[in-house]
Amino acid sequence: MHEMSIAMSIVEAVDAKARAEGAGRVSEVDLLVGKLAGIHPESLKFCFSAAAKGTLAQEALLAIEEPEGVGECGECGMRFPVTFYYAECPDCRSLRVTIVSGEEFLIQSITIEEEGE
Ligand SMILES: [Zn+2]
Repeated sequence: MHEMSIAMSIVEAVDAKARAEGAGRVSEVDLLVGKLAGIHPESLKFCFSAAAKGTLAQEALLAIEEPEGVGECGECGMRFPVTFYYAECPDCRSLRVTIVSGEEFLIQSITIEEEGE
């Protein structure tokens, strides 16, 4: 289950950032996880709450935005939705398709609160 190792690295990064800024706790973590990133959001949320126990992020809400997969054809330039990496252009059947959206995986922002609030 690779969501657990992903969750642990998110918690580590968020906890380190919160500590560096002298925060009391982290109230929200916003993630961008593209639909082609190969990460299951529900599992990630579950793993995140487990991984965050005992850290500044233990009560944080994990908000996940999931951009749709979009491919662009290298032959005709058409853009179309893709649900898999090896997509074929629906117009000219070319396999020279570049994924332009959907592979994102990043922490967009974290909301921290001062100690004592
Ligand atoms: Zn095409």
